[in-house]
Amino acid sequence: MTLTLSDPDLFRTQAYIDGKWVDADSGETFAVIDPATGEEIAQVPRMGAAETRRAIEAAERAQVGWRKLLAKERAKILRDLADAMLANADDLATILTAEQGKPHAEAKAEIAYAASFFEWFGEEAKRVSGETIPAPMPDRRIVVLREPIGVTVGITPWNFPSAMPTRKAAPALAAGCSMVLKPAEQTPLSALSVMVLAERVGLPAGVLSVVTGDAEDAPKIGGEMTSNPIVRKLSFTGSTEVGKLLMGQCAKTIKKVSLELGGNAPFLVFDDADLDDVIAAMMVAKFRNSGQTCISANRVLVQDGIHDAFVERMVELASGITVAPGFDPAAQIGPLIDQAALDKVLAHVGDAVERGGDVLVGGGIHEQGRTFFSPTIITGADMDWQMSNEETFGPVAAIHRFSDEAAAIRTANATPFGLAAYLFSQDHARIWRASEGLEYGMIAINTGFISTEVAPFGGIKESGIGREGSQHGLDDFLEYKYLAWAGVRG
Ligand code: NAP
Repeated sequence: MTLTLSDPDLFRTQAYIDGKWVDADSGETFAVIDPATGEEIAQVPRMGAAETRRAIEAAERAQVGWRKLLAKERAKILRDLADAMLANADDLATILTAEQGKPHAEAKAEIAYAASFFEWFGEEAKRVSGETIPAPMPDRRIVVLREPIGVTVGITPWNFPSAMPTRKAAPALAAGCSMVLKPAEQTPLSALSVMVLAERVGLPAGVLSVVTGDAEDAPKIGGEMTSNPIVRKLSFTGSTEVGKLLMGQCAKTIKKVSLELGGNAPFLVFDDADLDDVIAAMMVAKFRNSGQTCISANRVLVQDGIHDAFVERMVELASGITVAPGFDPAAQIGPLIDQAALDKVLAHVGDAVERGGDVLVGGGIHEQGRTFFSPTIITGADMDWQMSNEETFGPVAAIHRFSDEAAAIRTANATPFGLAAYLFSQDHARIWRASEGLEYGMIAINTGFISTEVAPFGGIKESGIGREGSQHGLDDFLEYKYLAWAGVRG
């Protein structure tokens, strides 16, 4: 498969280590597949522990000079990188759509989001201030420095192939850290295309490397990343299961960890909600990226008084969504990422039907075939359904009915996850009560859209540790150093 790019040089199929484009030591490669067609897009190096170790050692060397640059100098490089991404957004989006499947317009929006982290964190780098603290003794002075944590590693998933790597790399680099990144097996090309631009804008060799591998290689790459004592921090986005494993591995050398893990977002619609707002939000929170986001509305809880009108509008919405390959300009949702993803969605829908759910629209593979799934609306949902307890990661909305506000909040909280929750109401007292009652890291109020570089993205409970975006995202890559000065007399 050949992609039409204005700048074909952005399409790279080698990994990027210590400022060089390289193959695996073994020379082995794996295929990157277009989920819309099943065609092979590229062969990419299958790397393991040895290549990862070299990237980490290069990151250690590079960090010495990188951290010494003025914040303003690092900011300039990051700003140039953001600008370069925006200038090449069409091509970057083409590469992203080819490997991930989302509509090209949505991919372009992801590129803008991905670039925004370099812009934002470059600016924030200039505002890393320390503290002075009034001392308890007359000759003492207490000064607290903020310093880069050191060499860091990032592991990212396939659902946002550009934004997840940049959401990690940008704060790391802004803080003066270096990073070795491992993108997902399905989507390594987007991260590599950003590296072409990073090289062009003058990012020094070794500051950011990208190591590639397939699912079989991931434990070897991850094993080296989490055991190598040079590495001081792991930032991981992916499933809760793998996050737990990596956190355990990091315990042996007490690495700092940031984990952005799975969610099981409740979407609460109260009687007094504005239905137009709710439906607009559903398009984003449920159907964007074919429902394959960690903050996808997974449990739709709707109050009695608005339930029937909501269901009617949802049927209209789902019936009108255009499902098509991402390069079709009419596409609103593309395919699911792969067969395993399709099997999971089919299993969840099958389970819902078996337990008495009523499928009003969709319910199966779309006429486009392969892994395209029809937007699906199911009513009568219950908390013992599979899709109430696990991320479905598909364009399927299962609607629960409720009458009592407090009971709905308890239901919303009855999960080990705590990433995002959505609530819709025009009653400010209720909005406060619900926001305070919901055990989630992020609450979307009368909107389906919460992702921005300026806000702290992240979860609680088994959805993770730490925040990405905002000044808190930078804090995660900084350490405190306390200077206790004595002898200030006179
Ligand atoms: P995943 O299976 O956990 O994979 C994520 C990354 O971890 C991939 O790069 C994968 O490599 C790697 N990996 C898997 N096993 C590993 C191991 N033993 N050692 C080291 N690395 C390993 O998750 P996914 O299916 O790609 O992504 C979907 C999940 O990500 C969902 O649960 C979603 O909610 C979550 N997510 C969370 C956020 C957030 O901000 N909270 C954002 C996006 C996605 P390979 O691809 O090579 O196997």
